[in-house]
Amino acid sequence: MLDIQKIRADFPILSEKVNGKPLVYFDNGATSQKPQVVIDAIAKYYQEINANIHRGVHTLSQLATDAYEISRVKIQHHINAKFSHEVLFTSGTTHGINLVTNGFASILKPGDEVIVSSLEHHSNIVPWQMLCEKTGATLKVIPMNEDGELIIEAYDALLSEKTKVVTVNHISNALGIINPIKYMIEKAHAVGAAVLIDGAQAVPHLKPDVQDLDCDFYAFSGHKMCGPTGTGILYGKEEWLNKLPPYQGGGEMIKEVTFEKTTYADLPHKFEAGTPNIAGGIVLGTAVDYLNHIGFHNIHQHETHLLQHATKRLLEIEGLKIYGTGKNKASVISFNIDGIHPYDIGSIIDKLGIAVRTGHHCAQPIMNFFCIPGTIRASFSFYNTKEEIDIMVEAIKKAKTMLS
Ligand SMILES: *Cc1c(COP(=O)(O)O)cnc(C)c1O
Repeated sequence: MLDIQKIRADFPILSEKVNGKPLVYFDNGATSQKPQVVIDAIAKYYQEINANIHRGVHTLSQLATDAYEISRVKIQHHINAKFSHEVLFTSGTTHGINLVTNGFASILKPGDEVIVSSLEHHSNIVPWQMLCEKTGATLKVIPMNEDGELIIEAYDALLSEKTKVVTVNHISNALGIINPIKYMIEKAHAVGAAVLIDGAQAVPHLKPDVQDLDCDFYAFSGHKMCGPTGTGILYGKEEWLNKLPPYQGGGEMIKEVTFEKTTYADLPHKFEAGTPNIAGGIVLGTAVDYLNHIGFHNIHQHETHLLQHATKRLLEIEGLKIYGTGKNKASVISFNIDGIHPYDIGSIIDKLGIAVRTGHHCAQPIMNFFCIPGTIRASFSFYNTKEEIDIMVEAIKKAKTMLS
């Protein structure tokens, strides 16, 4: 079992007060807090080895380059990619997805189909819509049921030889539902389609194995897994990354430039134009080390207890409805209380030091499906406790009394 108090001591912000109350941070789905090792590693980079990478012969440039590439290899091992050049540093999930949709603009033709799921974050919908507009391809949507689960028979029926890409999140940010992606990837491959997995909500909770999943792309953000903001990873299978054109042109991504013709650098540099977030990339490796030190098995166990406890306690509140009641869930709970706007609850409990998310969670189609303006979302991390959940439940009861 995890020693949660010891873990909490690693996160300086968790002992801060907000609005005069001890912080209860349940907005981990939006971004996670950062442990001291991560905060220190950022300062250490700037204090000791700051230099531009892949360019200089001088010592600091070598040190920075080595640290950056060591981090890439660390992340390669973390997600079990076959090659380190399949691991691209990005600024986040959104960047990774746009890199892929930009590449597919030169591949898709009118009549081709792209399948997205109805559980997607806007950043895994809009870039595909833009791609379809550009290429004349058609966007198809996998429907969901009242429990917030994808209707897999409907997915099977959508697949055909016209399907060129399937894109789906590993875990829904709005409802916490875990999608059966391994099955979905296998089915997509059977019709020759490529698959992108949006892993933004999965990586804080589990260790993805991209070779076992056999996905073609897997995108995630660093800031939701204890890493710095402005960091992320796009994993792509070597053959796909070789096939796709570069996303941005500039320094670092070229072999040779003349005004007649430019040849591109090999992977991964072909997709890493310009000076990257060097400190961020290096420190993302520190965050991955930290999470592995805690252990994903332990994280899963603790978060499962939190989810069960919160579900049970929240359902004690009369008129409270949970959205996303499917079986397979991560530690995210979306809910509403009869007749009360989610924003009002969120504002009152904020005054009590409790941070939850209210609104559509960048997933308006899900809210439209349930005919609601939004939900209150409490998303738990391994550093949260049952006591914090009890504090939230009491605060919600109080807010409910005030509002009804
Ligand atoms: C947060 C999130 C994104 C977007 O991540 P950014 O870090 O904002 O680029 C995409 N998909 C899901 C499921 C998310 O939770």
